[in-house]
Amino acid sequence: MRIFNFRTRSTIKCPRCLGKRFVDWDDIRRLNRQLKWVPAPCAYCDATGRVPKEILSKVAVDCMYLTIDLPESTIEKIKEGDPETVEKGKQREVFVDHLIAFAEHHFLTQNLDAENIANLYLNTEAEKANFAVTKEELIKYIQGVIDLKKSELN
Ligand SMILES: [Zn+2]
Repeated sequence: MRIFNFRTRSTIKCPRCLGKRFVDWDDIRRLNRQLKWVPAPCAYCDATGRVPKEILSKVAVDCMYLTIDLPESTIEKIKEGDPETVEKGKQREVFVDHLIAFAEHHFLTQNLDAENIANLYLNTEAEKANFAVTKEELIKYIQGVIDLKKSELN
């Protein structure tokens, strides 16, 4: 069991939410997490707006995996640097990065729509993926990738 006394620790304004306690689209764009996060209470500072200085050397501000929708015990493990949890987070980011690259590639080179890309992904890549996704989730996600790419191209 750990006993914290925040008053005696030096804290700084949370670099993820800039002290607002909430991660909004501006923060998401600033940290380049557009396809990875949605606006939500800040998990980095636990929606308090401030963090102990030490956290900066333990968890990256833009650590994709650290979001408020995770169970509290997992959030604790990430912040403690638990190797198994950190590895799981890395694998998840690899999975998402691969999916984004796959979707962008097929949109840009073959102009496929989200549903066709989802079908292709499920037929060729799904077995290699460590994370199960439903077709509906996949189509929605890929549509987001395409929309972002279109907005970048315009
Ligand atoms: Zn914060």
